[in-house]
Amino acid sequence: MSTETVDTLIIGGGLSGIYAASLLARKNRSFVVLEARERLGGRILSPEHQGLFSDLGPSWYWPAIHPKMAQLIQTLGLKGYRQFEEGMGRFQSSNGAVQTVSGYPTEPPSWRLEGGMMAIILKLCEEIPENAIRLNHPVCNIEKKGSEALVSVGELEKDPWVQFKAKEVILALPPRLAASTILFHPDLPANLTQAMLKIGTWMAGHAKVTALYEKPFWRQAKLSGQAFSQHGPMGELHDASNNEQGPYGLTGFVGIPAAQRSNQQLLTEAIISQLALIYGQAAAQPTILYYTDWAREKFTATQLDQPPMYAHPLYHPPANQTSFWDNIIHFAGTETANQHGGYLEGALTAAERAVQNNH
Ligand SMILES: Cc1cc2nc3c(=O)[nH]c(=O)nc-3n(C[C@H](O)[C@H](O)[C@H](O)COP(=O)(O)OP(=O)(O)OC[C@H]3O[C@@H](n4cnc5c(N)ncnc54)[C@H](O)[C@@H]3O)c2cc1C
Repeated sequence: MSTETVDTLIIGGGLSGIYAASLLARKNRSFVVLEARERLGGRILSPEHQGLFSDLGPSWYWPAIHPKMAQLIQTLGLKGYRQFEEGMGRFQSSNGAVQTVSGYPTEPPSWRLEGGMMAIILKLCEEIPENAIRLNHPVCNIEKKGSEALVSVGELEKDPWVQFKAKEVILALPPRLAASTILFHPDLPANLTQAMLKIGTWMAGHAKVTALYEKPFWRQAKLSGQAFSQHGPMGELHDASNNEQGPYGLTGFVGIPAAQRSNQQLLTEAIISQLALIYGQAAAQPTILYYTDWAREKFTATQLDQPPMYAHPLYHPPANQTSFWDNIIHFAGTETANQHGGYLEGALTAAERAVQNNH
């Protein structure tokens, strides 16, 4: 088994890890990103169909209150557009009955990104040397060896596939996931482990659907695509179309808990019939129906994340520590941000802090 030596290891190739990597690249620092999945992006996932990138993770940013996102999007030369909200909304009550209601304009306004949120990751990657990104590299063990860290990649309790020796490590994954799936030697202090486990991973218990159509029949009926439902399975729906042209999309958050989402076939049927109830028969024939259950993604959610969180927690670094082991390990990842934690903005905030703490 080989051991590679690097200055900084970034664990996690979501927005926080990739942004941290781009900042280190700008400073000409040597680093490697270890990403467990076979793709980058983490909770950002934007599959493409005929030029429409469907955001099955985050789809919105709010330039009025998230300045780092607004600035980054501008610097990268990407283009945002306002969430479509023109027209009337729909409301489905608990007995399934649907009525048309006045729209629910978001305040501050939500914006989407042309090319989907994945466009940010792809653009940032242009600044990162290709061999600095290692996909299919799940970290299972981190050991303090003097003033360095020995990081093992592979499966817990099995021989590691490869090891890395690093002067510093940036943990760019949800702290609850890190505490649940990575072994630390020596043991982390109990208060730090507890604090990491208590930080819920934002949206990890949720599932999201996007249905694509050739025609925006809801817009033609003067509906915005925005709907709220007490009936389910989706609790909230929005227009998820491109800025200017088709295909067109409706997206929804599945409101029922993960434990009740185990039969995907039944759930899909229920989603389609709900779409038809809210928007008519045309909605029952999507060209594509995407569905992602984040609670079943082992590199996002743990057992503790199965019940969906409805209120947004007040995030902060675990046990108010931004680093541990004499500044060898630094927390990044949106759930460790002091401001805007849980959001894309928090992922950038925490990455900047981790890179500043990096020597
Ligand atoms: C359905 C949904 C909707 C959302 N909507 C919005 C929105 O509209 N606006 C908004 O601002 N935010 C939204 N969010 C939150 C947003 O997605 C997150 O704030 C952001 O993506 C977090 O980035 P991150 O890099 O901190 O974490 P992650 O994206 O979770 O990245 C962590 C990375 O670490 C990797 N990893 C995990 N374990 C290991 C390991 N052992 N070894 C190596 N790598 C590992 C993962 O595979 C992943 O790539 C939403 C999230 C979801 C799921």
